[in-house]
Amino acid sequence: MNAKTEQQHNAFLDQTHEVFNQPPALENYNLFHQDRALQEAIQREGAAWAQEELGVYGAITGRSDVIELGFQANANKPEFHTHDRFGHRIDEVRYHPSYHQLMTMGLEAGLHSTPWTDPKPGAHVARAAKYYMHSQVEAAHCCPLTMTFAAVPSLRKQPELAEKWLPKILNRHYDGRNVPDSEKQAVTIGMAMTEKQGGSDVRANTTKAYPVGEEGPGQPYELVGHKWFVSAPMCDAFLVLAQAGNGLSCFLLPRWRPDGSKNPMQVQRLKNKMGNVANASSETELRGAVAWMVGEEGRGVATIIEMVAMTRFDCMIGSSAGMRQATAQALHHCSNRKAFGAKLSEQPLMQNVLADLALESEAALALTMRMARAMDNQDDASERNLARLVTAVGKYWICKRTPFHAYEAMECIGGSGVMEDCIMPRLYREAPVNAIWEGSGNVQCLDVLRAMHKEPGVLDSFFAEVNLARGMDERFDRFVAQLQSDFDNTDNLQYRARNMTDRMALAIQGSLLLRAEDQTMAEAFCAGRLDGNAHFNFGNLPEEVDCAAIIERSCPVFED
Ligand SMILES: Cc1cc2nc3c(=O)[nH]c(=O)nc-3n(C[C@H](O)[C@H](O)[C@H](O)COP(=O)(O)OP(=O)(O)OC[C@H]3O[C@@H](n4cnc5c(N)ncnc54)[C@H](O)[C@@H]3O)c2cc1C
Repeated sequence: MNAKTEQQHNAFLDQTHEVFNQPPALENYNLFHQDRALQEAIQREGAAWAQEELGVYGAITGRSDVIELGFQANANKPEFHTHDRFGHRIDEVRYHPSYHQLMTMGLEAGLHSTPWTDPKPGAHVARAAKYYMHSQVEAAHCCPLTMTFAAVPSLRKQPELAEKWLPKILNRHYDGRNVPDSEKQAVTIGMAMTEKQGGSDVRANTTKAYPVGEEGPGQPYELVGHKWFVSAPMCDAFLVLAQAGNGLSCFLLPRWRPDGSKNPMQVQRLKNKMGNVANASSETELRGAVAWMVGEEGRGVATIIEMVAMTRFDCMIGSSAGMRQATAQALHHCSNRKAFGAKLSEQPLMQNVLADLALESEAALALTMRMARAMDNQDDASERNLARLVTAVGKYWICKRTPFHAYEAMECIGGSGVMEDCIMPRLYREAPVNAIWEGSGNVQCLDVLRAMHKEPGVLDSFFAEVNLARGMDERFDRFVAQLQSDFDNTDNLQYRARNMTDRMALAIQGSLLLRAEDQTMAEAFCAGRLDGNAHFNFGNLPEEVDCAAIIERSCPVFED
């Protein structure tokens, strides 16, 4: 080897190759400022006043150190400890510090409280927008944030319990210590309905409630039985269903008794979940745990359904957020990577896929934010109807669209999208959870039928909202007319419930996009979702769709 080749050889040993054609990490960007659909949605739905605050939160949730918290919380699973080293039963789940930091962020941001503490017009919309950004960092820990938020309407059904607990529930601090609630200023709330023999059908619950003294609302009972799924078991109290003398009733079960001793709700083990890893979910046994009745005896489902309605709404936000983050990752990657001589985002077939993903994501957001407005306007009967019916429609449709969307976004990134140091595997594994808990797909569709049956005005309110876009697009008009006439046939509605609910979701999403600012999206939706029945794989938008404009609108950008 001569001197020159030896020199080159040594240089190669130091550096074998140059790394190029790889995108920069999508971090240190503003999740609000780079999301035009979100900005327009908050204007449209009555929360323009929150713009500045959302911009600040968008910067926080895009920071690399905050994004890293999400990775840490998932890389370090919660651990369950039954006893301390002296043999005392402690039932303690220990989380990585990143989990506690995420919880602190969420509670300080008021994700669990603002529409209750400051119920002005747009309050639910602003909170949903914040939650949407927060959940893009890490979705699993949002479970206890949601449950704490959602417990409020149910708890208010028992005023003396509400008076005692609400100040601590609504407090914007986080106290993750395993100590009695009496030693805390701020608490979190969970929910325990599901038992081994029945989850969707909670009437099958076998857990029994025995009165300690007097019976009835607000009175203490001892609960004996089990719960098969209890997420976030470090919450300070839980809304629980159990059979009292006069039927299934709702109870508030704190983890500690008033005397400061442990309430015997014993955690048996943690669930070994495929996703939602940062959030612990547990199996428990109730060994005479003291709990106070909330609402009327025998009306447990009616009481806890107020909480369930809220958690279902948060599933819509969470899944919309998952789709947005997946879309942002796919668009960012493809805008910064070339193949066969051009950027991926400029290759016609990839443009079709990316635009289709962005369309799905924006339609999900539009529906979610419209439901947030309905929740802000509960004084109005038609808005109440809309919230009742369309939360079931949206929870079903948006959550069910998310797994496939996540998978397709992952594929846009190629092999690196499958790797654990990319957020995509986490988004993918998280995606089915929202579809299954809080009422699985079929149960949501049956709930749509139930709402129509029990509250006849709901379908009229639905079509009144959808028809606000009547006359704006022929494809939309045809789609809605067909749906409306198919409701005249009431034969076999259960069997057809998915088909009807799918189409209801598309009809209202189409209506919302047609009435929104960006007509490129509306055109794409009518062409790609409403014109003909089938929606094949993502990447089937017809030629008239301006995919480049959709990509340009939806692609996250770094700010100077
Ligand atoms: C990660 C995770 C965390 C959870 N955390 C909690 C928690 O904190 N608290 C809690 O109470 N629960 C929790 N759950 C439980 C969850 O809410 C239930 O799993 C869910 O409600 C479904 O109940 P199940 O598992 O008993 O299924 P089943 O009720 O047996 O349902 C199985 C399937 O049958 C379908 N089905 C049911 N009835 C009908 C019907 N009449 N017609 C057609 N199809 C039907 C359902 O849609 C579902 O697809 C959690 C679940 C998961 C996955």
